[in-house]
Amino acid sequence: MVSDRRWLRGNTHTHTTYSDGDSPPEVVADWYAEHGYDFIFLTDHNAMIPDSHLARVQQRGLAVWQGEELTMGVVHVNGLGLRQPIVPPPELRLQIGEENRDDRVRWAVEQILAQEAVPSVNHPNRWDALGHAELAQAGDLRLLEIANMSPEAAAANPGDLFRPSTEQLWDRLLEDGKQVWAVASDDAHHFTRWGPRWSNPGRGWLMVEARSTSLADLLGALRGGRFYASTGLALDDYQARGREIALELASGPACIELVGPGGQVLDTAVGQSARFKLPPERLPYARVRATGLDGTRLWTQPHFL
Ligand SMILES: [Zn+2]
Ligand SMILES: [Zn+2]
Repeated sequence: MVSDRRWLRGNTHTHTTYSDGDSPPEVVADWYAEHGYDFIFLTDHNAMIPDSHLARVQQRGLAVWQGEELTMGVVHVNGLGLRQPIVPPPELRLQIGEENRDDRVRWAVEQILAQEAVPSVNHPNRWDALGHAELAQAGDLRLLEIANMSPEAAAANPGDLFRPSTEQLWDRLLEDGKQVWAVASDDAHHFTRWGPRWSNPGRGWLMVEARSTSLADLLGALRGGRFYASTGLALDDYQARGREIALELASGPACIELVGPGGQVLDTAVGQSARFKLPPERLPYARVRATGLDGTRLWTQPHFL
């Protein structure tokens, strides 16, 4: 359906009873439809919902598209918009040892791109799964989850003394010149038990600038970085042109930061809107992060200069 809204809300990481989710796709789709989402991708571990079942779930009030979370030990990569399931070979699925993480992530990205689907490298900090060295060799990984909001991953997103945050990992890839876009997602597994221990829906999402929720429109916008990631904040307007970025928040006042390479904060505004003039020195990119009073955030994609 063609939309008259600028942004469409969706979740790119959702589990069902096709793997370790606690609810069937119907329950999952109904939750997201009832909470104002326009689309979701179903991303079960090494499994895809069959076309016949998908066709029935697509009648439930939002666009539901196929995906798969290619799962190889600690390396997890979503294929969004896959047509055929991808089965990782046994040698890449090994749990023990955990060597060859760069081989695993590169293989997954290649398999997904071969189907003209969109890869998303998931929760790089969970289990210390993937660092800059592995991600730098992953090819055109395109999407990186910097805010997977399932409890264990969310605890690992900020990094620690020994590991950069997921956001710092993203900046390092951008500094390398890669076109990589930041994703917030639910990684939802639990629709029958609620609370901070469970991977519940509604904690991390994307707002996608797409004409419609057709698979082609959504994948085009995801590939092109025409979206922002959120754990609670929303935009009313956003313009990035030349050496200026201007935005208005739909939600209440926030700390709005202009971020450059290395995660360096170049400018800050407090309030409901900001108009940043980009500094005259040569910067490869700048991006915006906003943090609300309750700690929830949004991240725009980099504006390349
Ligand atoms: Zn995962
Ligand atoms: Zn998952």
